[in-house]
Amino acid sequence: MPIKELLGATDFFLEPMVLVSRDGIIETPNQSFAEQLELPVESLPGRRLDTLAAASASAVQEYLRACTESVKAVEGSLLLRRRAETIALQARGVAYPPNSAPTASHVLLQLVSQKQGPFSGSTRSRSARNAGNWYEIEQSLRRQSQILEVTLASIGDAVLVTDAQGHVTFTNSVASGLTEWPLEQAKGRPLTEVFPIINEHTRKPVENPVSKVLQTGTIVGLANHTLLISRSGREIPIDDSAAPIRLPDGTLFGVVLVFRDITDQRRAEHARAWLAAIVESSDDAIVSKTLDGQITSWNPGATRLFGYAPEEIIGKSITTIIPTELHAEEADVLARLRRGERVDHFETVRVAKDGRRVEISLTVSPIRNEQGEIIGASKIAREITERKRAERMLLEADRRKDEFLATLAHELRHPLAPIYNSAQLLCRIEHDRPELKNACEILQRQLQQLTRLVDDLADVSRIRAGRIDLQTEPIDLGRLLHSLELSMRPLFEASGQQLTLHVDPVYVHGDSSRLFQVFSNVLHNAHKYTPAGGQICVTCERAGAEVIIRIRDTGIGIPTDMLDEVFDPMVQVNRAGLGPRGGLGLGLTVARRLIELHGGRIEAHSDGEGKGCEFLIFLAAS
Ligand code: ADP
Repeated sequence: MPIKELLGATDFFLEPMVLVSRDGIIETPNQSFAEQLELPVESLPGRRLDTLAAASASAVQEYLRACTESVKAVEGSLLLRRRAETIALQARGVAYPPNSAPTASHVLLQLVSQKQGPFSGSTRSRSARNAGNWYEIEQSLRRQSQILEVTLASIGDAVLVTDAQGHVTFTNSVASGLTEWPLEQAKGRPLTEVFPIINEHTRKPVENPVSKVLQTGTIVGLANHTLLISRSGREIPIDDSAAPIRLPDGTLFGVVLVFRDITDQRRAEHARAWLAAIVESSDDAIVSKTLDGQITSWNPGATRLFGYAPEEIIGKSITTIIPTELHAEEADVLARLRRGERVDHFETVRVAKDGRRVEISLTVSPIRNEQGEIIGASKIAREITERKRAERMLLEADRRKDEFLATLAHELRHPLAPIYNSAQLLCRIEHDRPELKNACEILQRQLQQLTRLVDDLADVSRIRAGRIDLQTEPIDLGRLLHSLELSMRPLFEASGQQLTLHVDPVYVHGDSSRLFQVFSNVLHNAHKYTPAGGQICVTCERAGAEVIIRIRDTGIGIPTDMLDEVFDPMVQVNRAGLGPRGGLGLGLTVARRLIELHGGRIEAHSDGEGKGCEFLIFLAAS
């Protein structure tokens, strides 16, 4: 029950009691107080207490001020006038409302006659009852205030209380932590000092919610994007609300401000905003759907690609953009998603709003909720119509090139046979015409070179078309290499190169003319890329189940980063200062393929340019 009503009740407080404002105006006296002064109770409200006192006005004022500032009851003595006499009363003053010291607006005074001892009253029983009431009230007020403080202290949110003038009267530990103002230091300070807030974007001070509450008397929420500046200058994003605290009679007693550190929430919001912006501005179509295929989001990229505006398609089935013949594919994708699998760079076709078929590369990932359950899927689609067209054109161009090379090899080979026969004829008459000797040699050498080039070309075409067949048989590699040496020795001698051969009698199962072609190719390279006077060495040995043929030279070598590449078609090492040495860069490509068809492998080794090189050919021994 409000204190004013309690005071008004004639039988509640039996001792003289009066509620006085902090500046000494009597607000509510009780019956017993009026009786002490022998004045009608209704004549008292509005009068100054000091006009009833025998003491000086300033002494009364001083005592009242002490009461408003103290958290405990203040004992004192008060001399009051009763008609012509002066009565000495013992006074006990408490700041009112409870817990509002040091800025209490009122003082509740309990008076006791000094002569009659404590708790004077007309009867013993009244005294006893008075004592009990007063004690109970004080206890109850104290208990309530303790409960309130414990409650406020244990709340997870920050709580800050001000009086009606906007001065801080209470902060809980969370508020003290965030503002970095301990309660004892914050108490009595203006709110703006303890709780300075600014707008995150404009950096201007935000109107304090407490002053708004004081103006409007209603509950006020903080504007968005408010930053609290702590005592050490730390900026903390907060949201809050402020509510008026009213006394039972309706007077505004103060304001309670509840606020919360929303740094994490703000970070999550920023991250969400970033993600949303990425999705919005992505060139790719980004779409999400439920596990039964209903579209739930559709970004501008999807609108550009498929032509549907979000409002036309959200809520519809994803099959709207899937060609009928591919509906089964979607069922398969959904089944994989339900199992938690991702579908990566899956190339497929969709239908745009205008019926155009769009080739896309699709990545589909499951979307999980906080419990980790799959609740839908996100699809990222990129149009690849252009890329697919370019790929098709490239494949077509490649096919035409292969066709052209095959025709070219075929057409070039045609005239070679008659030229070869004619050259043989000419060389036979060389004995009678010595002046033709040189010309004949040139003719034969160039013809051999030309034949090899055309053969390489034809072989590459066959390899690309997968049309090489081996005629396999057991081969004595020693003999094969000896006959190769015999046929090539004149070439090496002519260049002053020394060719040595160390071969064990080893057997392999293979196509002798194709193996002859491979060794001849590698040996020709050794001859071509080794200066005059250099050495070329061929060995052949058995190592376990393998036969290793090594062809080593002391020539110009191969840069180590090119050792693998030289086997690729049309790769030739670019060497400054060394002119072209003929060839199309196809010989090693053909050699590798032929060796692979034999189930073997070929490797190039070199310590670098100028250091010579070695080719190793591994074949299965038989
Ligand atoms: P090419 O017809 O150009 O000789 P190849 O495919 O036979 O084509 O060889 C590819 C390239 O590898 C050659 O152009 C050359 O640069 C390099 N190469 C091959 N063998 C040797 C070698 N014994 N010494 C130095 N470089 C070599």
